[in-house]
Amino acid sequence: MIDVVDAATRSRMMSGIRGKNTQPEVRLRSALHRRGFRFRVNKVGLPGRPDIVLASRRAVVLVHGCFWHRHDGCRFTTTPATRRRFWTEKFGQNIERDARNLKELEALGWRVWIVWECEIRKDFEDAVDRVARWLDRGKSTP
Ligand SMILES: [Zn+2]
Repeated sequence: MIDVVDAATRSRMMSGIRGKNTQPEVRLRSALHRRGFRFRVNKVGLPGRPDIVLASRRAVVLVHGCFWHRHDGCRFTTTPATRRRFWTEKFGQNIERDARNLKELEALGWRVWIVWECEIRKDFEDAVDRVARWLDRGKSTP
C-alpha cells in the first residue's frame, strides 16, 4: 500500500475511524446483521431509546457501559475518587432510570436483553452468540 498521508494524519484518521466503528453497540448491531437479524430504525421512541430494536421479534438489546450503568461486581464499575457525592447521585439516577426503562419496555410487551460492554470487550463473538441464541429462543433475560 502506498503511503499518501504522514504518520500524524494517518493516526488521526485511524482514531476517528476507530472511534466510530468500535462503539460496542455498533459492532454488535453489525455482527447481528451479518448473522441475518434485521432491525428497524427506532422511530417510536421506546423508553430509554434502545440501541438495538428487532421489531418483528419484539425484542430489544441494550448495550450498557459498565461504568455508567454500574455493572455489578465488574472491574470497570469504578467510582471516581473526587466529587463522591456527585457521582453517587449520578449513578443512583442511572440505576433508577435503567430499572424504569426495563419495566416500561416489558410492560409494552418487549423482551429485553442487556449486554454489558465488558462482555463485548472480552470475547466479542461469544457475546454475539449469546444474543443470537436468546433472540432465537424467544425468551426474556433470566
Ligand atoms: Zn462489566
